[in-house]
Amino acid sequence: MDRVGFDKFKHKIKNFNFKGDNTMILKEDKFIQFNEQIKQQGGCKKVSFEEGEQIAAELLQELTKSKTGVGIAAPQIGYDAQVMVVNVKKPMVFINPTILSLDDEIIYKEACLSFPNKHINTHRYKWVNIKADNFQDHYSCGGSMVFGPTNEHMEEDGQDPDGLLEGVCIQHEFDHLQGITMYDRRYIVPQVKSEKTYGRNEKVILIKGDESKTIKYKKAEPYLNDGWVIQ
Ligand SMILES: [Zn+2]
Repeated sequence: MDRVGFDKFKHKIKNFNFKGDNTMILKEDKFIQFNEQIKQQGGCKKVSFEEGEQIAAELLQELTKSKTGVGIAAPQIGYDAQVMVVNVKKPMVFINPTILSLDDEIIYKEACLSFPNKHINTHRYKWVNIKADNFQDHYSCGGSMVFGPTNEHMEEDGQDPDGLLEGVCIQHEFDHLQGITMYDRRYIVPQVKSEKTYGRNEKVILIKGDESKTIKYKKAEPYLNDGWVIQ
């Protein structure tokens, strides 16, 4: 996931020193193809802990190079593996993650390293409860962890945009492991009903489900009462 409007936050990866500028991130068309393959097979493959750590190191390297990125998942650099990393508050690695629950639906503006310069509104959740195979080893946490806008008492904190970004980023990267992109989560602003008035003999297009018909407005009323709408 790309950082949108969060430029004030600096990268927090300090312990990794990588060389080379050549990005491993798949180009958009190649990624779309690979993503489709992941989706068709029902998601990325599980990996061993060792393999997961190796891929996570490469992912962190890519994230550091990207400058604006806050998260990246294995399929974005061509790996069919359940590994993702997120770096908002601190670098977090997730090997074979599972989302246990999502709470409180929100609309969020996001971007993706695989779709440069595209910003879209998405359906997300404020809170995500997630577990992963490496939690015990990396974070001394054997169970699940909750991410979202939270203060030190684990209470909701509206002043914690980093926490919200981190939680959304986790959802975004987890989706990549299933072959789901931000476009599958797109929020479309509902159309406001037209205030336009029509002449009695003006032709209008009526739509109901997959059907459509063109008739004069004066004959439209029974259809409109039957669930048809004017396009
Ligand atoms: Zn992405």
